[in-house]
Amino acid sequence: MNAVLDERKESAAQFARKIKARARELGFHKVGVVPATALVQERERLTEWLERGFQGEMLWMAREPLRRTDPRLIFPEARSVIVVALNYYTPHNHAPDAATGKISRYAWGDDYHDVVAEKLKKLLAWIKEERAEAEGKTCVDIQPVMDKAWGVRAGLGWIGKHSNLITKDYGSWVFLGELLLNLELEYDEEKIEDHCGSCTLCIEACPTGAIVEPYVVDSNRCISYATIELRAPEMPAQVSANLEGWLYGCDICQDVCPWNRFEQPTDEERFEPREGNVNANLSELLEMTQEDYSARFRKSAIKRAKLAGLKRNARALTKARGEEK
Ligand code: SF4
Repeated sequence: MNAVLDERKESAAQFARKIKARARELGFHKVGVVPATALVQERERLTEWLERGFQGEMLWMAREPLRRTDPRLIFPEARSVIVVALNYYTPHNHAPDAATGKISRYAWGDDYHDVVAEKLKKLLAWIKEERAEAEGKTCVDIQPVMDKAWGVRAGLGWIGKHSNLITKDYGSWVFLGELLLNLELEYDEEKIEDHCGSCTLCIEACPTGAIVEPYVVDSNRCISYATIELRAPEMPAQVSANLEGWLYGCDICQDVCPWNRFEQPTDEERFEPREGNVNANLSELLEMTQEDYSARFRKSAIKRAKLAGLKRNARALTKARGEEK
């Protein structure tokens, strides 16, 4: 009996190692494997954050908190979660050009949903070839899965005071994804402890005071939320008066983070910036038709803001610059 158990354990350990090696071959920069159990503490923190209304208009975040914190409610057969990180840093910078607005680094190249999902699907296909009984579900941001919490659990990094996941090797410039799998594997137990220490640079740098306390972001004050997720025809005045040139998203808290000294250029070519996606021309955007917009931002994460949102942002930025003169 013990011999059978030992054999199973060894096989689970070997297969976990093979999965990780295959994930790296597919281009993922970090990978960890953990059991598919509920994120109980994270659920408590999520509930508290929601009770404070910090989700703003992102009502989907308040929906089904149980499902959001238990992968087995998304994929009942789930036994393991393979958590991956993909470095997206490319060595380019925003131009100081007043005719344009800055776009967040994550949206410069091809839509990460497509890139991460394609790699995860290839990983699942390979697992199925190796183990006929394997079934799985890939998750990239769209599914109600708490990516950052899984990143921590899998030992990929820690959540910084700005609430993004920070890795020691690539800073916070990583996309996260998960593969829920019906197989038991050997699990990673080593966690990366919080290395923020006494640093408060991100809290001090945020021009709208969105990091209301360490590790807690109020979306209602966040430039990123206001320029991407908010659907209202106007942004809150406190945000629109402090955009600091951001048109879509905002990287201020990550740009000032000392851990992003460890940024490394990615080898994923699809994250190289598309033309006009680092800084976007404001007058062009203001005149853009829906047809032009669909063609210009095809397979780009920028589509999330919708044309009406981008135009609102461009108007707010133009107005703020006019007031600065
Ligand atoms: S800027 Fe400092 S406090 Fe903020 S996430 Fe980075 S290390 Fe942590």
